[in-house]
Amino acid sequence: MEGHPQIVLITGPMFSEKTAELIRKCKRHQVAGVRVKIFKPEIDTRVFDKASTEVRVESRCGAHEDAIMIKRPIEILSYADSIDVAGIDEAQLWGDEYADELFEVVWSLFKRSKTVYITALDTDYNAKPFKIALILMPIPEVKILKLTAVCFDCRRRDATRSFRIIKSDQRIVVGDSNAYIALCYDCFVRRTA
Ligand SMILES: [Zn+2]
Repeated sequence: MEGHPQIVLITGPMFSEKTAELIRKCKRHQVAGVRVKIFKPEIDTRVFDKASTEVRVESRCGAHEDAIMIKRPIEILSYADSIDVAGIDEAQLWGDEYADELFEVVWSLFKRSKTVYITALDTDYNAKPFKIALILMPIPEVKILKLTAVCFDCRRRDATRSFRIIKSDQRIVVGDSNAYIALCYDCFVRRTA
């Protein structure tokens, strides 16, 4: 039976509208009067108000929702008693070193009958998997929603990969279309050849 509680991993490359899907899913609960909060890693500075931890998650298609910015996944648990649904946006931004902690948080919420929607890139700009995606995908109770973008090069095929167009060896560089494009497999191979 579909419904509450569940864990849904919304994944795919950049520009696949993962955040829009997260917001849509959270709104469904909100209009029914369910207590929902969305969390995001503090490192994501795209929408950043230094004065408070209250920020917004925003999608490129224009959807936005209030969010709470947190430094470490474990902080989400301090909100657990006041929510029924947790949205977690851009989970890969905490880095692989926090992936186990994040999983413990997600699992603990699920065991307390909370629904968790979590967005994360499946792979980085080198097509290397992010650990949180690797941990969540094989868990039988986790529903996986894999989204695609449209390829920025051929503009025909679905894009499955994120490609960095600025020079940096750092694994996590927060950016938008100034720093990344989405590519289909063929165009990714052509660019990385
Ligand atoms: Zn292409």
